[in-house]
Amino acid sequence: MSEHTAIIAGVVVDTRHWIGGERVASPETFTDISPIDGRTLAEIARGGAAEAEAAVAAARDAFPVWAATSRAERARVLHAIADGVERRLEELAIVETNDNGALLRSHLRGVMPRVAHNFRFFADWLLELEHKDFQTRGHTNSVSWDPAGPCVLITPWNAPLMLATWKVAPALAAGNSVILKPAEWSPLTASLLADIAAGAGLPAGVLNVVQGYGAEAGSALVSHPDIRRISFTGSVPTAKQIARAAADNLTPLSLELGGKSPLLVFADADLDLAVDLAVEQYDNAGQVCLAATRLLVDASVAEEFTRRFTEKAAGLTQGDPRDEATDIGPNIHPRQLKKIDGFVNRAVDAGARTVIGGSPKADLYYRPTLLTDVAQDSEIVQEEVFGPVLTLQTFETESEAIALANGTRFGLAATVVTGDRERAQRVTARLVAGTVWVNCFFVRDLQAPFGGSRQSGIGREGGNWSFDFYCDVKNTVTAPEGWHSHG
Ligand code: NAD
Repeated sequence: MSEHTAIIAGVVVDTRHWIGGERVASPETFTDISPIDGRTLAEIARGGAAEAEAAVAAARDAFPVWAATSRAERARVLHAIADGVERRLEELAIVETNDNGALLRSHLRGVMPRVAHNFRFFADWLLELEHKDFQTRGHTNSVSWDPAGPCVLITPWNAPLMLATWKVAPALAAGNSVILKPAEWSPLTASLLADIAAGAGLPAGVLNVVQGYGAEAGSALVSHPDIRRISFTGSVPTAKQIARAAADNLTPLSLELGGKSPLLVFADADLDLAVDLAVEQYDNAGQVCLAATRLLVDASVAEEFTRRFTEKAAGLTQGDPRDEATDIGPNIHPRQLKKIDGFVNRAVDAGARTVIGGSPKADLYYRPTLLTDVAQDSEIVQEEVFGPVLTLQTFETESEAIALANGTRFGLAATVVTGDRERAQRVTARLVAGTVWVNCFFVRDLQAPFGGSRQSGIGREGGNWSFDFYCDVKNTVTAPEGWHSHG
């Protein structure tokens, strides 16, 4: 094997960038470790301004031909990429698990099939994308979705390939060329995606992958004047930096950011369902943007809820994410673990009571934690921890529940558990959130809009919303035959 490849559980991964249909090395590398045991997985090419410039040039060159490619042909290539993902599904799953520590069984059964579906869905949607014409005094207004140009797509580490393809698929379907910058803590499956896309016949330069740190590769890409769209998923502080960079060129942005979502449990709720949904928030070791980390429970059922929750959480198995029996794997990086522990310690110092957990289990694993006696304005209630840490607050009335739910600067999602349909309607109408679930969690149709309110994001993606963002939407007004404006 060459110095530019890593072998992860038997899978060969090229550690160089993918630019203009070629593998490109950098003078420097950075080390990618596995959260499972901290071992070094790979030395990854560390991109900066030069690699960003080369990738933008490749994307610019490739754009006109791909933009002019028929919708049917673009859709065919996207389906071929989905076929490639399905063929290599097990390899993608094991590499992703080694790289970001999320459960192998969810990668195999949920995440990687969804990656393939991202391509199939947007390929099919592209073929259906149509708007009925409008008529104004005999003039026909025809709406079209024109490819916008090179797009920069920047993704986080918590669901690397799923989130990358949630952007790559619609951007390519729309006829754009793209530059994907994966997160530095989990870059490996983006490299495999480049191989798969090339194998599927995507022309050189239409998909480029530049690896590296946000402050180097990322910032060089988002500040480039030839970029026509930036789609970013990640944290609020980074989003602010990207928005500032984009402002100089007025590059349109889509931002999918963090959250501090509530789970409201009313007294009329099926308590077993409420407990199941609450414990589910520990999935991916709590590193899920949508996680409902604030449990808001009617005071009259709080004791019983807490008893059942504690019992259920005690049954969770924490350990190696490759084991079928594991429910909670490691956190992504020692730095993340330290950050989580810092949040918990400060909360306890401020008066919070630890119901379960409250400390690391080992260097990379944090115990599922529930804190109560927390004030609404405290850091632990207001800030995203991004670890397996939930808080529990009680309420007396529906209005109080809604005020607590809406009482942060975020608005990504909210979950309501109630046996009363009318209450569900009343409450959901007043919640500030991009997605609201009633008696369920995480289920979502890709045709529906996805995004956050307030500081959880700007814009919506999914279905037509993705095409609205990734395209220059045009209205062409045609006069009727024989019409003369001065006549
Ligand atoms: P992050 O903001 O630290 O990094 C995200 C990406 O941005 C990385 O690829 C990083 O290299 C890059 N980056 C950093 N600085 C940059 C800069 N100046 N210019 C350009 N790119 C830069 O986020 P993270 O820690 O990787 O991910 C966790 C965050 O992502 C959490 O806040 C989580 O809620 C959020 N998230 C949101 C969603 C959603 O859909 N709303 C989904 C998953 C994760």
